[in-house]
Amino acid sequence: MTRVVAPGAALGLLGGGQLGRMFALAARRMGYRIHTFSPEDDSPAGQVADLAVTASYEDLDALRTFARGVEVVTFEFENIPTEAIDAVEALAPVRPSGMALHIAQRRAREKMFLADRGVPTVSFAPAESFDELWDAVALVGTPAVIKTAAFGYDGKGQHKVTTPADVEHIWTAIGHQATIVEKFVSLQAEVSIVAARGADGDVAMYAPFENRHRDHILDVTTVPAAIAPAVVKQAGEITRTILEELQYVGVLCVEFFLSTDGDLLVNEVAPRPHNSGHLTVDAAVTSQFEQQVRAVCGLPLGSPEIPRPAAMANLLGDLWVDGEPNWAAACRFADVKLHLYGKTDARPKRKMGHLTAVARTVAEAQDRVIAARDALLI
Ligand code: AMP
Repeated sequence: MTRVVAPGAALGLLGGGQLGRMFALAARRMGYRIHTFSPEDDSPAGQVADLAVTASYEDLDALRTFARGVEVVTFEFENIPTEAIDAVEALAPVRPSGMALHIAQRRAREKMFLADRGVPTVSFAPAESFDELWDAVALVGTPAVIKTAAFGYDGKGQHKVTTPADVEHIWTAIGHQATIVEKFVSLQAEVSIVAARGADGDVAMYAPFENRHRDHILDVTTVPAAIAPAVVKQAGEITRTILEELQYVGVLCVEFFLSTDGDLLVNEVAPRPHNSGHLTVDAAVTSQFEQQVRAVCGLPLGSPEIPRPAAMANLLGDLWVDGEPNWAAACRFADVKLHLYGKTDARPKRKMGHLTAVARTVAEAQDRVIAARDALLI
């Protein structure tokens, strides 16, 4: 049996971003101390931590000192070098494991892991050179999407290929990096399942979230998703398979494509809480961040029930480009909750947040958050 890390203990967090901040706030509410490790000073998570260590992930001595000061370590973003995780894992339990992180760090590795276990994914082919890229596009067929193999998210490093003739300029545009070629899917909907697996193997899943993107970035999430019960069931089974195969401990998000042909395909897996799960803070019995605290600390999982329809609208840096948004106008929507957690320095691109609403219907919840977001620019 896993030992319970009881409230009062210090939890270590690698990464200092917004997901880490919300994790830290949930942990502090439950009586834990939070130590963050981030290369950035004054990070969103560091601002609400008991101890914020600022050092590089290459500084293994600093990582070891950090690990010795905490009972358990988790991470809040994917791009932490393997050597850093290994150094920490030698001294303190890391949950989810470094293995889960390692798999999620490369798109091709992740897709291969999934395909080997019978999980349906988009057709794909990895490529490390121009010749391989050419062959991969021929294999997958057009239209296709070329994505950089690692460190890409939210559509960064993605290029659509309409004809094979596009390959040459895309290879130049991505700077001759390793890539993955994916079949371009005609999308009926995008859904995600955020789920947790506890140290005892217990699994708790939120209902699927329906996600709308703008410029490849999540724009609006709603729940319940407007998808057939059979698709909900299939998505849940796939998520459970992934959790079991990884022997996962913690919160994970599986992003799905539902094609216009009715195929449910895994796009990617995020080994951490997820932007689409932000509405759980206001709408679920247990938020995804509390669930992460529970799983990482060996506590029983909380209820993932979302009693009423809810919606979330992202607030991205472009809102700040022409000056400070009109917060008073948005707060006039008394039923809409405001969450802000980006960098507090002057650069608009580093600022971010979201709005959530719970209502009688999905349409009503969505209307509320969009109207409140529009009011920010009045
Ligand atoms: P990703 O960074 O892989 O999560 O992609 C970001 C977004 O780009 C997805 O949520 C989709 O809206 C779109 N996208 C990515 N890959 C594909 C694909 N193979 N076919 C169609 N749309 C895609």
